[in-house]
Amino acid sequence: MTQADKTDAETSKPSNFLRQIIEADLSKGTYAHRRWSGAPADHKTHQQGDLDPAKIRTRFPPEPNGYLHVGHAKSICLNFGLAKDYGGVCHLRFDDTNPEKEDQRYVDAIIDAVQWLGFDWEANGTTHRYQASDYFDFMYRCAEYLVSNDLAYVDEQSPEDMRINRGDFSTPGKDSPFRGRTIDENLARFRAMRAGELPDGAAVLRAKIDMASPNINLRDPAIYRIRHATHHHTGDRWCIYPMYTFAHPIEDALENITHSICTLEFEDQRPFYDWLLARLEAGGLINTPAPKQYEFARLNLTYVVTSKRKLAQLVNEKHVAGWDDPRMPTIVGLRRRGYTPDAMRLFAERIGVTKSDSWIDYSTLEGCLRDTLDAEAARAMAVLDPIPLHIENWDALMGAGHLEPCTAPVHPHHPERGNRHFNFGADLFIERADYEESPPKGYFRLYPGNSVRLKYGFVVTCVGAERDAAGNITRVIAQVIPDTKSGTPGASSVKVKGVITWVGASDGIKAPVNLYDRLFLDAQPDAGGKDFTAVLNPDSLRVIEAMLEPSLAHAAPGTNFQFERLGYFVSDRETHQPGHPVFNRSVGLKDSWTPGS
Ligand code: ATP
Ligand code: MG
Repeated sequence: MTQADKTDAETSKPSNFLRQIIEADLSKGTYAHRRWSGAPADHKTHQQGDLDPAKIRTRFPPEPNGYLHVGHAKSICLNFGLAKDYGGVCHLRFDDTNPEKEDQRYVDAIIDAVQWLGFDWEANGTTHRYQASDYFDFMYRCAEYLVSNDLAYVDEQSPEDMRINRGDFSTPGKDSPFRGRTIDENLARFRAMRAGELPDGAAVLRAKIDMASPNINLRDPAIYRIRHATHHHTGDRWCIYPMYTFAHPIEDALENITHSICTLEFEDQRPFYDWLLARLEAGGLINTPAPKQYEFARLNLTYVVTSKRKLAQLVNEKHVAGWDDPRMPTIVGLRRRGYTPDAMRLFAERIGVTKSDSWIDYSTLEGCLRDTLDAEAARAMAVLDPIPLHIENWDALMGAGHLEPCTAPVHPHHPERGNRHFNFGADLFIERADYEESPPKGYFRLYPGNSVRLKYGFVVTCVGAERDAAGNITRVIAQVIPDTKSGTPGASSVKVKGVITWVGASDGIKAPVNLYDRLFLDAQPDAGGKDFTAVLNPDSLRVIEAMLEPSLAHAAPGTNFQFERLGYFVSDRETHQPGHPVFNRSVGLKDSWTPGS
């Protein structure tokens, strides 16, 4: 039995190591006595507040330097989901401590993505949306506290010497010649750094821990660097910026975070996280007990790359049309492809959280989309590779030009959603693959002499096909069997083995459909530092002219449908307009993908 097979008694969700940790903390009352001042704050301010109304606090801390992807979706569902399940609050925190790479448009896109996934940060009358740059003053105060207690020093070695003296896995590091500076000297130099008296790279502030530690992250890590750069929120107020490893634990502490959940690559930094917060706690600077960091395996999805840098490369080199290209694993791309918040949340639940890295098969994601859309998506008929079908006895039997109205349920399990309407006549379109002159064994569709039902319409018997001078089939010919219309008493009088879908020539709409496929042919496109652009799937987008049933013409942009027999399709959010439909294929009906299929 794996972790994910067990069910959590409290929430009836699959249990996992994080749920167990949280449940243990709740039953021990680890955080039951903490106070919360209503906003992120130091120890003294929080102490003036009431008991924290949130039983736990988690956070999702993106750097606003790109669009979120499916891996972030896992982290969002995890952090917001845990808070929701355990009476807690999840903070949306923009980790904007790096002045150079951040941008407001990414902030807006991140807000949009988290809300789209169905989460928000309003709780107990407070908006828990924060930005780390608001904490720069407090971080500076913490740094001065460390310096004043001989726990940090200003190092002015060259970056090269600093690297050499750090040692490596087999060699202990060497103390910097600046390590023995007095507290007063360190304070003066740190203030000089802050005052802009030193150029970029001339000095760093380092925590004073142990240059011989077996964990390289504890060999006096740098905690402040000089960067004469304009920050998108704080402008030119600062020319020194905290390093991530220093900033992150402090952000968590100010916000009263209880469980700080991050990906496995931060495991080695946990000792420094604890070292720092223990000192700040002892100094009375932060609330107590301090937050704890827990690591889980990041999402690796086959046929997908999930690094912002690599996604940016796909956009910049124009391998895709943009960040929201439906082939992109970004949240905006997935949404445009037809993925829904339900599907994404189901995916996060199905893959669960573990402590060891693995690859999740892309078909797991697709399965979640099928499984959530099946119960929801309106049905429609479409013909993707149309060939005309002519009913040669129609006019004689029914009257010249007669159109017979047909109906079909919007959803087979939801009669309350009503019916679709379309017309059957002498001329229709069917899929090219639904006619075979010499049928293979087990083929129940149209071939000379065989009868099939045209779904929601009549039973017809195939007569043959017409060809052009080059021998290509131009039209399939059939005869209707009278009184076999679906839903009438005679419908079952003729038994057929095949049912095929169709669109009427009188009311069908011609429309472009984007047939998207996996972006890469290789299941692990970037494994081992491979050039992922060398394994792009040349057929990841095929645009076809399809015939659609009339109900699709006026669909709102971004509406999901099941095209019967064909798969799930969505009206494109950017280009679809009522009257001028454009559809994207989200996923086929069955999991039958092979490269190039
Ligand atoms: P990238 O490497 O693509 O730039 P990142 O980790 O630098 O991503 P952040 O904005 O720092 O991006 O990430 C915000 C949060 O999302 C972090 O807590 C991080 O752990 C989580 N996250 C990022 N990628 C994944 C992933 N593939 N699986 C799970 N969580 C992820
Ligand atoms: Mg990051």
